[in-house]
Amino acid sequence: MPKPLAGVAEHQARVAGLVGIMPVLVLPIADCLGLVLAEDLIAPIPLPPFDNSAMDGYAVRARDVAEAPVTLPVAQDIPAGMTEVAPLEAGTAHRIMTGAPMPAGADAVIQVEHTDGGTERVLLRTAVPAGTHVRRAADDVAVGALVLRAGRVLGPAQLALAGALGFGGLPVRRRPKVLVLSTGSELVGPGEPLLPGQIYESNGLMLATGVREAGGEAELLRFVPDDVAAFHAAIEPHLADVDLVLTSGGVSAGAYEVVKDAFTGRGVEFLKVAMQPGGPQGAGRYQGVAVVALPGNPVSAQVSFEVFVRPALLASMGFAVVGRRTARARISTSTTSPAGRTQYRRGAYDAESGEVVTPVGGPGSHLLSALAIANCLIEVPEDVTELAAGDLVTIRYLE
Ligand code: AMP
Ligand code: MG
Repeated sequence: MPKPLAGVAEHQARVAGLVGIMPVLVLPIADCLGLVLAEDLIAPIPLPPFDNSAMDGYAVRARDVAEAPVTLPVAQDIPAGMTEVAPLEAGTAHRIMTGAPMPAGADAVIQVEHTDGGTERVLLRTAVPAGTHVRRAADDVAVGALVLRAGRVLGPAQLALAGALGFGGLPVRRRPKVLVLSTGSELVGPGEPLLPGQIYESNGLMLATGVREAGGEAELLRFVPDDVAAFHAAIEPHLADVDLVLTSGGVSAGAYEVVKDAFTGRGVEFLKVAMQPGGPQGAGRYQGVAVVALPGNPVSAQVSFEVFVRPALLASMGFAVVGRRTARARISTSTTSPAGRTQYRRGAYDAESGEVVTPVGGPGSHLLSALAIANCLIEVPEDVTELAAGDLVTIRYLE
């Protein structure tokens, strides 16, 4: 009796469990883009930190300009950045710039456009109520306020807020380090001459860039032939430095299945998952390091990365949402899907043209070119074997 197939969700959980969660460390704020904040961020200072002018103009006491127009002597110039500002005496004005601290005693700013711009004496043309054009300390953020919750993804706006509050570094879960290695004696590096029977290697590039796009760090090793000794020699020196070894090829049922041969009985399990493409998979721990072994067919490798590896990498960095956006769409043509397997077809989805998704390329797992023009995967559930044109399907965006 062949082993029953593992479910997609079951294998997703297995891979996510292997990759686990990355430790928290404090990284310089500029290196935190795209990472997840690991602890609540509490404001150590107020924002703005002090009362300041919202305009270029003149700081005054509102009651001194109640009878405007009035002319007042200009006692001081206050550029932004001045740290020692003399108090405003009654019956005088200070020339003040946007962001400069309000002098004690002043309660309003008259913008320069409503004055003659004088530097010794100034003609103030309009009366203003107290508080005009003054940005109050803590108007935006009070000391001790919870400004960002743990779990927040750090984009430019969040980093700017943390920077404004004076944080030089932030606690984040670090990026997982992934060693990427393709196997296959038929593989040749792009740019090298191609003999009959050889193909250019493409999975390594796809996986390494996919890891980086997901936020991880990838080290791409030169691919190795189907030789167990060469395989071990390639990965062993790197094991101490990585969180995950991600391989492609050499996991199915043929002879010369190098990844299977190298890892079987050494902590990595090889199994079949109920999906198409991407059935044969390997996962486990080799010398303490998580290993995920993907099939070699380029489409199988990419779909497996999407379904198993990408969500696990995101979860390891603390992302709450690890799946792609999904939508429901009507499939443009009839098609079939194997019973008992989740099928992932490459699709071109156009929301503007009535939410129709068109399968691109056939189901074959060697059809690389269709992948490059697809913008989604069409997910056909295990129990669906036939779809008619116009049927509703679930799509997962690839972008
Ligand atoms: P395998 O899983 O090693 O049996 O490979 C399955 C198919 O995928 C074969 O046609 C391989 O030539 C192809 N293949 C395997 N690895 C790669 C790779 N790194 N780049 C491109 N094609 C590959
Ligand atoms: Mg192979």
